[in-house]
Amino acid sequence: MSSIQDLGLSETYGAFIDNAFQPVDGPTFAALHSGTGEQIARIARCGAAEVDAAVQAAAKAFPAWRATAPEERSALLLKLAAAVEADQQRLARIDSVDIGRRLFETGLDHQFAISQYRYFAAAAITHEGFGRPIPGGYMVARREPYGVCGQIIPWNVPAIMAAFKIAPAIAAGNTVVLKPDENASLSTLELCRHIAKIFPPGVINIVPGFGEEAGAALTAHPGVAKLAFTGSSEVGRIISRAGAERLVPVSLELGGKSPNIIFPDIEDIDAVVDNAMFATLYCNGQSCLAGTRLFVHDAVYDAVMDRLVAGMERVKVGAALAPDTVLSNLVSPEQGERVMNYIGIGKAEGARLMTGGQRIAVEGQAHGHFIAPTVFEADNRMRIAQEEIFGPVLSVIRWKDHDRMIEEANGVRYGLAAGLYTSNLRNAWETAERLQAGSVWINHYFNLASGSPFGGFKESGIGSEYCHETLNMYTHLKAVTIQTRVAAPWFAPKA
Ligand code: NAP
Ligand code: MG
Repeated sequence: MSSIQDLGLSETYGAFIDNAFQPVDGPTFAALHSGTGEQIARIARCGAAEVDAAVQAAAKAFPAWRATAPEERSALLLKLAAAVEADQQRLARIDSVDIGRRLFETGLDHQFAISQYRYFAAAAITHEGFGRPIPGGYMVARREPYGVCGQIIPWNVPAIMAAFKIAPAIAAGNTVVLKPDENASLSTLELCRHIAKIFPPGVINIVPGFGEEAGAALTAHPGVAKLAFTGSSEVGRIISRAGAERLVPVSLELGGKSPNIIFPDIEDIDAVVDNAMFATLYCNGQSCLAGTRLFVHDAVYDAVMDRLVAGMERVKVGAALAPDTVLSNLVSPEQGERVMNYIGIGKAEGARLMTGGQRIAVEGQAHGHFIAPTVFEADNRMRIAQEEIFGPVLSVIRWKDHDRMIEEANGVRYGLAAGLYTSNLRNAWETAERLQAGSVWINHYFNLASGSPFGGFKESGIGSEYCHETLNMYTHLKAVTIQTRVAAPWFAPKA
């Protein structure tokens, strides 16, 4: 298919270690076109041996890399940003084919990734320790990199995930071994072509493969000094245990089941409904941040629900690369089955299906699992309102009492994000204060600004990415004190 041939992909990819793709002589797995099921490439299924080689390369590169001036690291990150920018259309197409998301979105992913490389290029220079005078001297608190960082990412937004992990780690002077997701490794492996031209060998290494193999080998490796993971809360626990075993710091960005709240005082109901749809359907619903519990005030409930159902029914479902597509396929047939299973659970537990709920066939995309935008009228206690579905499925919950609504909005194990729509400043502020979420977006869902802390409360994670604080997660503090003279004797007898 021409859409695949002009992507410039290799037939096979080995691990990327010391700025070179390793020869593939062991087991491999297939990267599939997520719509047609065609094989696009074969990728090395890395295990303990490849992970060990990658960690050794990263360990060898670390002393020189940590000694580079922050200005030098910054300059190289800017070069990477420029290289990705020049190649972003191709990289976005690779992601669209690999994971099934429309080009408009995967293009945005790469812009977002570029902004991360630039942000941390700036932050590298301005990330400072601190100091203070002490009697007879001075104390300096230095921020020092950990060493080799083991990083594991999911498939939903591969360009953003790779940038979120690589940029701050290397900006702070660490070296990296990263495992991409088996469903979405290609754009990260293609990123390596740019990395090889810009960074010293060993600074950034990529080990594709499966979680239980490459992932587990990476988290258990004694040469890894810091772990960072994005993915499900279930696997997050496994990573956390691996960190506890070796007592290395672990940062986690995990799942979500975020509330999105509509107050009765909204001015433009159409704009609010459009934003709530965006909150649900972006990434085909496969976003940890998705606003999948829509709390609608009783006074505007019917008006919102009518528009929501009509809006969802207008959404064009189609192939990822078709220009008029708004919603495309889920990443894999397994993910499609999982989402359909949740739709069945919703029906069985008595939620009222307002629209959608069915699979849609798209011509020429037999492998792709397309699901119509689905809206349930639900109760917050139902499983479809409590569990992360990761598909285009929205639970709408009616509210009247503010305190009770807040209790329900917070009444899930997650706490990643929250949205709210109001034209009343007091509603906005007092609600934002009470929501248990790492990000609260007032009048614009997914309002991720460069430099705003991104992380989860409760079971949604530990730590903040995307901001200056992230560099603190990738460094430890060392206190160095200096006295102008040796201390007066403690033990020698006084004259
Ligand atoms: P997942 O199953 O947790 O997988 C994430 C990554 O962990 C993959 O690379 C996976 O490898 C690897 N992995 C699996 N088991 C492992 C193990 N025992 N040891 C080490 N690594 C292991 O998540 P997913 O289903 O792919 O992605 C969706 C989840 O990610 C959702 O829950 C979503 O909310 C979350 N997410 C969170 C954020 C955030 O920033 N908070 C962002 C995006 C997604 P494989 O290649 O074998 O799968
Ligand atoms: Mg996976």
